[in-house]
Amino acid sequence: MADFRKILVRKRVALVAHDNKKTEMMAWAEQNRAILAQHQLYGTGTTGRMLEEVLDLPVIKLLSGPLGGDQQLGSLIAEGKIDVLIFLWDPMAAQPHDPDVKALLRLCVVWNIPMACNRATADFMLSSPLIHEDYESHQTDYSAYLNRKM
Ligand code: PGA
Repeated sequence: MADFRKILVRKRVALVAHDNKKTEMMAWAEQNRAILAQHQLYGTGTTGRMLEEVLDLPVIKLLSGPLGGDQQLGSLIAEGKIDVLIFLWDPMAAQPHDPDVKALLRLCVVWNIPMACNRATADFMLSSPLIHEDYESHQTDYSAYLNRKM
């Protein structure tokens, strides 16, 4: 396994918001439209559709979260096809797809991709100079796991 993954200057940014967080996501995205326009945007179904309307930018839309969109995103992250996740999840409501949410958050840690779960972190992320640069994401050495004896 390579010990780093290259995140290029034009990033593949995934955006997800639970229903109670969609208003906040749209407000944040509008505020940050100029920066978001420099990147390739992905979204779960409903979030993606709303973002396209609000931003008038193309968004690659996956399935709606509860129908598998979070799992599709997790798969793209594992394959190295998503660079950044902004996920405004709702801390006050259980979701029918809670296991998928947990799996998505876990894969961001496994593959060391930047992940913002609240608006403040998303602000820090987009105001980081790294959003405008290539970046080498260090990868944990999982070879011991891959080579374990069963
Ligand atoms: P949605 O999914 O964008 O289709 O609403 C988000 C989620 O619940 O994960």
